[in-house]
Amino acid sequence: MKKIIIIGGGFAGFWSAAGAVRRAIELEKENEVEVTVVSRDSFLNMRPRNYESDLSQVRIPFERILKPIGVKNIEGNVDGIDFDNKTVTVSSSSDTLTLPYDKLVLAAGSILQRPNIPGLNEHAFSVDTYQEASKLHQHLDNLVSKRSLAGCYTTIVVGAGFTGIEVATEMVSRLKRVAEKNGDDPSVVRILLVDHSDIAADFSEEPRAVIKEALSDLGIESITKVSVQSISEDGVVLSNGEKLAALTTIWTAGVKASPLTSHFPVERDHFGRLPVDQFLRVIGTEDVYAAGDCANVLADETHVALMSCQHASPQGKFAGYNLTSNLFEKDSLPYGQPYYCTCLDLGEWGGLVTDGWDKKVMMKGMDAKGVKIEVNTKFIVPPLDDKEEILIESQPNYINKLEDFLPYRYREATV
Ligand SMILES: Cc1cc2nc3c(=O)[nH]c(=O)nc-3n(C[C@H](O)[C@H](O)[C@H](O)COP(=O)(O)OP(=O)(O)OC[C@H]3O[C@@H](n4cnc5c(N)ncnc54)[C@H](O)[C@@H]3O)c2cc1C
Repeated sequence: MKKIIIIGGGFAGFWSAAGAVRRAIELEKENEVEVTVVSRDSFLNMRPRNYESDLSQVRIPFERILKPIGVKNIEGNVDGIDFDNKTVTVSSSSDTLTLPYDKLVLAAGSILQRPNIPGLNEHAFSVDTYQEASKLHQHLDNLVSKRSLAGCYTTIVVGAGFTGIEVATEMVSRLKRVAEKNGDDPSVVRILLVDHSDIAADFSEEPRAVIKEALSDLGIESITKVSVQSISEDGVVLSNGEKLAALTTIWTAGVKASPLTSHFPVERDHFGRLPVDQFLRVIGTEDVYAAGDCANVLADETHVALMSCQHASPQGKFAGYNLTSNLFEKDSLPYGQPYYCTCLDLGEWGGLVTDGWDKKVMMKGMDAKGVKIEVNTKFIVPPLDDKEEILIESQPNYINKLEDFLPYRYREATV
């Protein structure tokens, strides 16, 4: 029996597993491979949804997506990889395991960067993981006991990139609901978005203008070209010496690839990602693949794929296909994803959809919000409890235009 181990059960890890199973079936080798996902818990956390007000739908139990396709799941933390002996070490609450592999996929994703700022680790909230997003929810529920304190209904969001903008715009209505529930006037709610650079610095002029219009209409205050010096329970001190009272500070300033990438004897990129070839195999290795936020790979001739779910899922499908092909000495498929778009939630203002690598505005306002809701609740959600549907969706496909993002099961109805 050939053992395929996948580290990480996010989008890249899940689709690597499904892609591997699908390819094994195609090659009539399904009885010769065992696919195992090792992840910290038994859920696929749809991270792009962690900013939402309702977290009840943002995790999918592996029972519903791995079990139907016969993939095993081990809950635990991978601490080490022994490339010579082809094993990974996994620690769980009760045990330490050494698992042998024939092929390995590193799909351990990324983690929020937390620079050495006093008070950041103790007092800043985040939406990086489901657990951290849940902690923020709990804190907001507990504000009722702190109603008399300065900054009770003020939130400072640090980082005005994609995640920070989604968090800040969502917090407007969310905090107003908290204030109303606590019997306070919702107009006291204040949301500040702080960045050491500009708002939406990764966007070009045209979409940035849309984002700034939305922020202004929602009453969000932007503080730019200033960094955060320290964070405490009751506020933030900025680099210009200003002290802002706020009981809620949410840190969203950038991510870096999983620390497991440092176990590889190769030079990583600025985000800590591993160099892989077009087949997603880590450069300098024979049997190890990487996908998603851990991999640095070209999406087309000039653009490196981004740390995004829209890149992680297709990469997983290619990685799973390729490692299984390689296992049985069959041809692999080069990964490619020439088309790129973004879909940004802007809270009650609506949303913004951009087209292409230069991010031209395609749609804004409530139409764009409708697209974002479809993306979050349908298009990124794998088929549940349905082996056949999961295996159909795990076919590697080239994304050359917008429609290519649509899962096959929505194409007939939508295209
Ligand atoms: C709030 C927010 C909004 C976002 N919005 C968007 C968006 O609109 N569009 C978009 O395309 N992308 C978005 N992203 C980015 C997107 O979520 C990530 O790029 C994507 O989740 C990466 O997928 P992945 O499978 O590589 O890693 P992850 O989703 O990070 O999954 C990694 C998995 O590995 C597990 N793991 C990590 N280390 C270990 C270990 N040592 N041992 C065992 N298991 C381990 C983790 O528990 C997790 O299950 C957003 C992210 C956030 C946080």
